Amino acid sequence: MKKCKNCGKQLTSGSRLDFYSKECMKQYRENKLKILQRSFLTQFDKGFGSSRRQHNIQVVKNMLEEGYSEEQIIKIASVYFRKQTVFEYLEIAKSLLEIEGEKL
Ligand SMILES: [Zn+2]
Repeated sequence: MKKCKNCGKQLTSGSRLDFYSKECMKQYRENKLKILQRSFLTQFDKGFGSSRRQHNIQVVKNMLEEGYSEEQIIKIASVYFRKQTVFEYLEIAKSLLEIEGEKL
């Protein structure tokens, strides 16, 4: 039986949704967002190929997979990084997703 990703309440059988209510979806997203924001490594990105950079690209990739729009990601990540860096992360993350053949 499928359960709400936020509160664990059982969903009607055969439901294609992940949440019991819009409120649940909102709460889940907000919590997720907090976790994601914490997970950015905010020390200097040591340049191409550094593990910190790879990590941050992975975070952006996860956000895309979670269904965040590019606009939202840019807004969130711009708090921590220069716009140029954010765009780079986004482009690389999108390329990685394409390579893996996943749909956004
Ligand atoms: Zn719920």
